[in-house]
Amino acid sequence: MILLASTNANVGFPAGMEILRKGGSALDAVEATIRPVEDNPADRTVGFNGYPNILGDLELDASIMDGRTRESGAVGALKGVIPAISVARKVMETLPHVLLAGAGADRFAAEMGFPQTEALLNPDVIAAREAILKQDMTDTEFATLATSDNLRQWVRLATDPERTYGTVNVIAQDANGNIACGVSTSGWAWKYPGRLGDSPIIGAGNYADNRYGAAACTGMGEMAIRASTAHSIVMAMKLGKSLTEACELAMEDLNALGGNFIGRMNLIALAKDGTPAGYSSLPGKTFIYQTDEMETYVEKERTLVEIEERWAE
Ligand code: ASP
Repeated sequence: MILLASTNANVGFPAGMEILRKGGSALDAVEATIRPVEDNPADRTVGFNGYPNILGDLELDASIMDGRTRESGAVGALKGVIPAISVARKVMETLPHVLLAGAGADRFAAEMGFPQTEALLNPDVIAAREAILKQDMTDTEFATLATSDNLRQWVRLATDPERTYGTVNVIAQDANGNIACGVSTSGWAWKYPGRLGDSPIIGAGNYADNRYGAAACTGMGEMAIRASTAHSIVMAMKLGKSLTEACELAMEDLNALGGNFIGRMNLIALAKDGTPAGYSSLPGKTFIYQTDEMETYVEKERTLVEIEERWAE
């Protein structure tokens, strides 16, 4: 039994481990681990008080995958409803679909009884958006952004690589050996409205298959979408590669992408024998995991595989 995650999931580990220790399912553990992260106002990259899109609206992406059956549920650009991970799970459990986006996702969340959350952003995040955007634009341009016919230009400036990003990734393997994987994010800060990252795209930011293992990503979602990164890792293990080889292959494949990208990627992955791994294109990045024999989680440095920076202004 193991719970493996990006380091910002530490606030959810007590809830997730309790489920696993009581013999609960990997799926329940993943959802329970992510929910406190979505509720954590100090986390700027997931759920409540995450950084919004360029117009100041929070748009959440989340997905969950059950490695027993590879059934999956996801929401993209969900506005106003937290917990996004639980809405994603309901998509999986109650609809013949995998992914709902935008107004349809909001409608479905309401139909399933999730309340609309009124104040999604604290004043500190509202002020941070204004301060950051005004580095590039005048007061008038900022005030009229909602009707701008050149939002793409501002998005390009505001999604500078040095500005913030992040997501929560959680993989669990329960006492029965079943594996599940969940991902939740407010996405790239100051993104174009309606932009979906890798987090709600099964195979890009999230993949789980009991037969081989699971993988999840944080970083520049556009890269993970283009390289189908999470699925690539699991597929490599299916083809006989070790966990290490599979992760290295996926990182090398990202580095081989052409065109413009920011070059930031972090992976966590689990082999079906319960071995965890963490990789990053940046030095010093960590991940956490806990098994049933451990009293608390351990934080480990991710293996560094550099990805060349290819971001042009
Ligand atoms: N992968 C997320 C996205 O592209 C952001 C991140 O993890 O940094 O939306």
